Amino acid sequence: MRKPMRMLAGEIEQCEACPRLREHCRRVAEVKRRAYRDFDYWGKPVPGFGDEKARVLVVGLAPGAHGANRTGRMFTGDRSGDFLFRALHETGFANQAESRERGDGLALRDVWITGAARCAPPDNKPLPEELANCRRFLLEELRILRNIQVVVCLGRIALEAWARTGGLGRLEFGHGRWIAGEPKVVCSYHPSQQNTQTGRLTREMLAEVFAGVRRALE
Ligand code: SF4
Repeated sequence: MRKPMRMLAGEIEQCEACPRLREHCRRVAEVKRRAYRDFDYWGKPVPGFGDEKARVLVVGLAPGAHGANRTGRMFTGDRSGDFLFRALHETGFANQAESRERGDGLALRDVWITGAARCAPPDNKPLPEELANCRRFLLEELRILRNIQVVVCLGRIALEAWARTGGLGRLEFGHGRWIAGEPKVVCSYHPSQQNTQTGRLTREMLAEVFAGVRRALE
Protein backbone atom coordinates (compact mmCIF):
# COMPACT_ATOMS: atom_id res chain seq x y z
CA MET A 1 0.00 0.00 0.00
CA ARG A 2 1.21 3.49 -0.82
CA LYS A 3 2.35 5.62 2.06
CA PRO A 4 0.18 8.73 2.45
CA MET A 5 2.06 11.96 1.77
CA ARG A 6 1.24 13.27 5.24
CA MET A 7 2.98 10.25 6.77
CA LEU A 8 6.06 10.92 4.68
CA ALA A 9 5.94 14.59 5.71
CA GLY A 10 5.94 13.49 9.36
CA GLU A 11 8.98 11.27 8.78
CA ILE A 12 10.84 14.09 7.03
CA GLU A 13 10.09 16.54 9.84
CA GLN A 14 11.60 14.16 12.39
CA CYS A 15 14.71 13.25 10.40
CA GLU A 16 18.04 13.75 12.17
CA ALA A 17 20.28 11.99 9.63
CA CYS A 18 22.57 15.00 9.03
CA PRO A 19 23.81 16.37 12.38
CA ARG A 20 25.58 19.38 10.79
CA LEU A 21 22.38 20.52 9.06
CA ARG A 22 20.11 19.86 12.00
CA GLU A 23 22.36 21.87 14.26
CA HIS A 24 22.52 24.73 11.77
CA CYS A 25 18.72 24.86 11.34
CA ARG A 26 18.16 24.87 15.08
CA ARG A 27 20.74 27.57 15.65
CA VAL A 28 19.25 29.79 12.92
CA ALA A 29 15.79 29.23 14.43
CA GLU A 30 17.04 30.25 17.84
CA VAL A 31 19.14 33.26 16.90
CA LYS A 32 16.70 34.46 14.17
CA ARG A 33 17.11 37.46 11.91
CA ARG A 34 16.19 40.78 13.47
CA ALA A 35 13.37 41.38 10.98
CA TYR A 36 11.75 38.10 12.08
CA ARG A 37 12.48 38.17 15.80
CA ASP A 38 8.78 37.76 16.67
CA PHE A 39 8.33 34.90 14.21
CA ASP A 40 8.22 31.36 15.58
CA TYR A 41 10.78 29.65 13.32
CA TRP A 42 10.02 26.17 12.00
CA GLY A 43 13.64 24.97 12.39
CA LYS A 44 12.85 21.37 11.30
CA PRO A 45 13.36 19.57 7.97
CA VAL A 46 10.85 20.90 5.42
CA PRO A 47 8.61 18.46 3.50
CA GLY A 48 7.52 19.05 -0.09
CA PHE A 49 4.11 20.53 -0.80
CA GLY A 50 1.59 21.13 -3.55
CA ASP A 51 -0.85 19.10 -5.58
CA GLU A 52 -0.50 15.34 -5.04
CA LYS A 53 -1.99 14.74 -8.50
CA ALA A 54 0.65 17.03 -10.03
CA ARG A 55 2.12 16.40 -13.45
CA VAL A 56 4.97 18.80 -12.72
CA LEU A 57 7.66 18.31 -10.10
CA VAL A 58 9.84 21.28 -9.15
CA VAL A 59 13.11 20.32 -7.48
CA GLY A 60 14.94 23.09 -5.65
CA LEU A 61 18.16 23.00 -3.69
CA ALA A 62 17.30 23.25 0.01
CA PRO A 63 15.28 25.44 2.39
CA GLY A 64 16.49 29.00 2.85
CA ALA A 65 17.71 29.71 6.38
CA HIS A 66 15.20 32.54 6.92
CA GLY A 67 12.73 31.37 4.26
CA ALA A 68 11.51 27.77 4.42
CA ASN A 69 13.49 27.08 7.59
CA ARG A 70 11.46 29.88 9.16
CA THR A 71 8.04 29.22 7.65
CA GLY A 72 8.10 25.42 7.25
CA ARG A 73 7.08 25.48 3.59
CA MET A 74 9.42 25.15 0.61
CA PHE A 75 10.35 28.45 -1.08
CA THR A 76 8.15 30.36 1.31
CA GLY A 77 9.03 33.63 2.99
CA ASP A 78 12.09 34.74 1.04
CA ARG A 79 13.05 36.41 -2.24
CA SER A 80 13.69 33.11 -4.05
CA GLY A 81 10.11 32.16 -3.33
CA ASP A 82 8.82 35.54 -4.51
CA PHE A 83 10.52 34.92 -7.83
CA LEU A 84 9.35 31.33 -8.18
CA PHE A 85 5.72 31.85 -7.22
CA ARG A 86 5.36 34.88 -9.45
CA ALA A 87 6.39 32.69 -12.38
CA LEU A 88 4.08 29.86 -11.28
CA HIS A 89 1.18 32.28 -10.92
CA GLU A 90 1.79 33.87 -14.32
CA THR A 91 1.69 30.46 -15.97
CA GLY A 92 -1.40 29.21 -14.12
CA PHE A 93 0.32 26.79 -11.73
CA ALA A 94 -0.43 28.80 -8.57
CA ASN A 95 -3.53 30.71 -7.45
CA GLN A 96 -1.47 33.64 -6.16
CA ALA A 97 1.94 35.16 -6.71
CA GLU A 98 2.86 35.46 -3.02
CA SER A 99 4.04 32.75 -0.67
CA ARG A 100 4.48 34.34 2.74
CA GLU A 101 3.74 31.59 5.26
CA ARG A 102 1.76 28.41 5.77
CA GLY A 103 -1.95 29.18 5.80
CA ASP A 104 -1.63 32.18 3.45
CA GLY A 105 -4.13 30.72 0.96
CA LEU A 106 -1.55 29.61 -1.60
CA ALA A 107 -2.70 26.63 -3.66
CA LEU A 108 -0.59 24.96 -6.33
CA ARG A 109 -2.26 23.47 -9.38
CA ASP A 110 -0.60 20.52 -11.08
CA VAL A 111 2.73 21.21 -9.32
CA TRP A 112 4.58 19.62 -6.43
CA ILE A 113 7.58 21.46 -4.97
CA THR A 114 10.41 19.66 -3.27
CA GLY A 115 14.15 19.97 -2.68
CA ALA A 116 17.39 18.06 -3.05
CA ALA A 117 17.87 18.58 0.70
CA ARG A 118 15.18 19.31 3.32
CA CYS A 119 17.33 21.17 5.81
CA ALA A 120 18.85 24.61 5.34
CA PRO A 121 22.60 24.23 4.81
CA PRO A 122 25.28 26.72 5.89
CA ASP A 123 26.11 28.99 2.92
CA ASN A 124 23.41 27.17 0.90
CA LYS A 125 25.86 24.33 0.30
CA PRO A 126 24.78 20.86 1.36
CA LEU A 127 27.59 18.28 1.42
CA PRO A 128 27.47 15.31 -0.97
CA GLU A 129 26.78 12.91 1.90
CA GLU A 130 23.90 15.10 3.11
CA LEU A 131 22.36 15.11 -0.36
CA ALA A 132 22.82 11.34 -0.45
CA ASN A 133 21.06 11.03 2.93
CA CYS A 134 18.12 13.07 1.71
CA ARG A 135 17.69 11.29 -1.62
CA ARG A 136 15.46 8.65 -0.11
CA PHE A 137 12.78 11.26 0.56
CA LEU A 138 12.70 12.30 -3.09
CA LEU A 139 12.38 8.65 -4.03
CA GLU A 140 9.53 8.21 -1.58
CA GLU A 141 7.75 11.29 -2.90
CA LEU A 142 7.99 9.86 -6.40
CA ARG A 143 6.33 6.66 -5.27
CA ILE A 144 3.37 8.73 -4.11
CA LEU A 145 3.26 11.25 -6.97
CA ARG A 146 2.12 8.98 -9.78
CA ASN A 147 1.40 11.51 -12.53
CA ILE A 148 4.68 13.37 -12.96
CA GLN A 149 5.40 14.15 -16.62
CA VAL A 150 7.84 17.06 -16.32
CA VAL A 151 10.56 17.73 -13.75
CA VAL A 152 11.86 21.29 -13.39
CA CYS A 153 15.34 21.25 -11.87
CA LEU A 154 16.28 24.58 -10.33
CA GLY A 155 20.06 24.63 -10.55
CA ARG A 156 22.82 22.10 -11.10
CA ILE A 157 22.55 20.47 -7.68
CA ALA A 158 18.84 19.82 -8.20
CA LEU A 159 19.62 18.27 -11.58
CA GLU A 160 22.31 16.08 -10.06
CA ALA A 161 19.94 15.01 -7.30
CA TRP A 162 17.35 14.12 -9.90
CA ALA A 163 19.87 12.20 -12.01
CA ARG A 164 21.08 10.22 -9.00
CA THR A 165 17.54 9.51 -7.85
CA GLY A 166 16.68 8.05 -11.24
CA GLY A 167 20.07 6.37 -11.81
CA LEU A 168 20.43 8.47 -14.97
CA GLY A 169 24.17 9.15 -14.88
CA ARG A 170 25.55 12.60 -15.53
CA LEU A 171 23.12 15.08 -17.11
CA GLU A 172 24.32 18.31 -18.68
CA PHE A 173 22.91 21.44 -17.10
CA GLY A 174 21.92 24.53 -19.09
CA HIS A 175 19.24 27.11 -18.43
CA GLY A 176 16.16 26.26 -20.49
CA ARG A 177 17.66 22.93 -21.57
CA TRP A 178 15.24 20.05 -22.00
CA ILE A 179 16.28 16.45 -21.47
CA ALA A 180 14.15 13.75 -23.05
CA GLY A 181 12.85 10.86 -21.00
CA GLU A 182 9.93 9.85 -18.86
CA PRO A 183 9.47 12.17 -17.18
CA LYS A 184 11.02 14.94 -19.26
CA VAL A 185 13.39 17.28 -17.49
CA VAL A 186 13.89 21.00 -17.95
CA CYS A 187 16.67 22.95 -16.27
CA SER A 188 16.52 26.47 -14.94
CA TYR A 189 18.94 28.62 -13.02
CA HIS A 190 17.96 28.56 -9.36
CA PRO A 191 16.05 31.73 -8.34
CA SER A 192 18.61 32.50 -5.62
CA GLN A 193 19.45 36.13 -5.02
CA GLN A 194 22.91 35.40 -6.39
CA ASN A 195 21.25 34.76 -9.75
CA THR A 196 18.31 37.16 -9.63
CA GLN A 197 20.20 40.19 -8.35
CA THR A 198 22.91 39.81 -10.95
CA GLY A 199 20.39 39.46 -13.79
CA ARG A 200 21.56 35.95 -14.56
CA LEU A 201 17.96 34.86 -14.05
CA THR A 202 15.22 37.37 -14.83
CA ARG A 203 11.49 37.11 -14.13
CA GLU A 204 10.88 36.67 -17.83
CA MET A 205 13.42 33.83 -18.10
CA LEU A 206 11.82 31.88 -15.25
CA ALA A 207 8.29 32.52 -16.52
CA GLU A 208 9.40 31.26 -19.94
CA VAL A 209 10.62 28.00 -18.38
CA PHE A 210 7.17 27.41 -16.87
CA ALA A 211 5.43 28.53 -20.06
CA GLY A 212 7.49 25.83 -21.79
CA VAL A 213 6.34 23.32 -19.18
CA ARG A 214 2.74 24.33 -19.85
CA ARG A 215 3.23 23.76 -23.59
CA ALA A 216 4.87 20.39 -22.95
CA LEU A 217 1.82 19.26 -20.97
CA GLU A 218 -0.63 20.25 -23.68
S1 SF4 B 1 18.86 17.04 4.91
FE1 SF4 B 1 17.37 15.39 4.64
S2 SF4 B 1 18.41 13.54 5.35
FE2 SF4 B 1 19.55 15.31 6.17
S3 SF4 B 1 18.65 15.69 8.20
FE3 SF4 B 1 17.60 16.99 6.76
S4 SF4 B 1 15.80 15.77 6.16
FE4 SF4 B 1 17.26 14.38 7.08
